[in-house]
Amino acid sequence: MRESCPQCNGDWLDFVYDLKEATLTWQRELVKRDSTMWRYWELLPLQDERSVVSMGEGWTPLLHAENLGSMLRHNHLFVKDERQGPTASFKDRQASLAISILKENDIKEIVVASTGNVAISYSAYCARAGVKLWAFLDSDVPHEKMREVTLYGSEVIKVSSNYDRTKQVAAQFAQHRNLFLDKGIRGVAAREAMKTIAFEIAEQLGRKQGAGWVAPDWYIQAVSGGMGPIGVWRGFCQLQQMGLVEKIPKLAIVQTEGCAPMVNSFHKGLDVCEIVENPASIINVLATGNPGPAYPYLRNIVRSNGGAFVKVDDRASFRAMRVMAQLEGLSMEPAAAVACAGLIQMIQDHLIQPHETVVINASGHTFPIEKQILENEIIRSHTRVQELKKEVVEAAEPATVPLRKEGLLTALERLDDRVQSVVIIEDEPDARLLLRRILQSRRQYNILEAADGVSGISLIRAEKPDLVLLDLMMPQLDGFSVLDTLKADQVLHDIPVIVITAKDLTREDYERLSGRVESLLQKGMFIEEELFESISDVLK
Ligand SMILES: *Cc1c(COP(=O)(O)O)cnc(C)c1O
Repeated sequence: MRESCPQCNGDWLDFVYDLKEATLTWQRELVKRDSTMWRYWELLPLQDERSVVSMGEGWTPLLHAENLGSMLRHNHLFVKDERQGPTASFKDRQASLAISILKENDIKEIVVASTGNVAISYSAYCARAGVKLWAFLDSDVPHEKMREVTLYGSEVIKVSSNYDRTKQVAAQFAQHRNLFLDKGIRGVAAREAMKTIAFEIAEQLGRKQGAGWVAPDWYIQAVSGGMGPIGVWRGFCQLQQMGLVEKIPKLAIVQTEGCAPMVNSFHKGLDVCEIVENPASIINVLATGNPGPAYPYLRNIVRSNGGAFVKVDDRASFRAMRVMAQLEGLSMEPAAAVACAGLIQMIQDHLIQPHETVVINASGHTFPIEKQILENEIIRSHTRVQELKKEVVEAAEPATVPLRKEGLLTALERLDDRVQSVVIIEDEPDARLLLRRILQSRRQYNILEAADGVSGISLIRAEKPDLVLLDLMMPQLDGFSVLDTLKADQVLHDIPVIVITAKDLTREDYERLSGRVESLLQKGMFIEEELFESISDVLK
């Protein structure tokens, strides 16, 4: 097995394939093939099919995230659900190919350094192939992941340092013992295996749209070493050369604030990556402080093909984790949620246009994450959000006007159990649906909906609800006028009203509302916090 270039001695090897031949074969045979990543056999670097070590990795679902889409007002969001691999992360693709290559070359022992998921995945595939694995883990790998690695029978060495140092120790050990070292992103397996994510996305998106193969506009991933986006990029390049897709998606590289060497270096315009010596994020899976050659590679791609380097803080990621679980039913590990937090930020910053198709890599499941970390962080970040909310309220409101700004659930709690029936007056169907979902997450209310001010007033007259949720900006009769009508009515003036608005309120607006409404919800902002409160209520 060749490990370096005979001409320049570099170790970043690229494979050359017969793309013409592969195109013809795929046209004939792909539909009949197994639903694993090995369906793309022709473009994977293995000689003999009998070498394949497989557990059904790949061909993970591409899910349309409609609820997230309605929250973010973006209809073309898709999740590539990489949690659905044999060990619940997208490292299974890499492991399957890497261990197959070992089998083909009759190598029986291997050393790997990992922040957790690679070690788990390699352990499973090594066990299956009868290969002995030495797994070097950094000191932040949670106990649950260690346990998983040992269960498969691997030798575990915990290095009491960070991931970059752990990689060095593993390399020294391999050299000393003359063992095969997995070179991570420098190795062939990682990049070549990740191409299959691109192949699947194009094939699956094409099926959904009923039109051949289709590339999305964006591929978003939480990034540590960068093998995912590099592999995906290579995959789409090959598809384009084969004439199967017309374009290559823009890459969004998302990192955590506490360990964002690539993002920071890109924004500083650097050619070589500035190393983060001491990663400071509790999301340890993404703690590559020194990404080496991956950075200039990705930087060039983003420069030439468009894309973005984005960083998000841990709190935003944990929030996104809850949003994905509660809106889409996807329990993603915090590292995977980093990509979703990145998406939310990019949409808010208008980096992603409403017509663009976006695929987010849900790279791993919460199952093997330490329970302690998840719960502590939920509680801790909840307190932080409460503080944040207080600051926002104080900053946004003119001091003289007492108007309560809070979440819908908090408001409901204050109004207590007397509220049984609720009328929602809101012209946008998506917003009505979201309000309904939030209400239902608390209790079974009798919920009635009106799409405009006039029918809203008739509905209130007919039903005498216990609460009204009122949008301010509606065509014809707006929320202010509905409020005027209600307050002037002998029978209806006592019904509490919660106003929902996307409008930046002026001082006059505040004065028109103050004293007449229960509270004020800011549209676009309130949804995440609502979901947030509902989960911390459960934990109480
Ligand atoms: C490994 C990993 C990543 C980062 O992968 P890259 O090598 O940077 O592409 C992201 N999420 C999860 C869950 C991972 O295990």
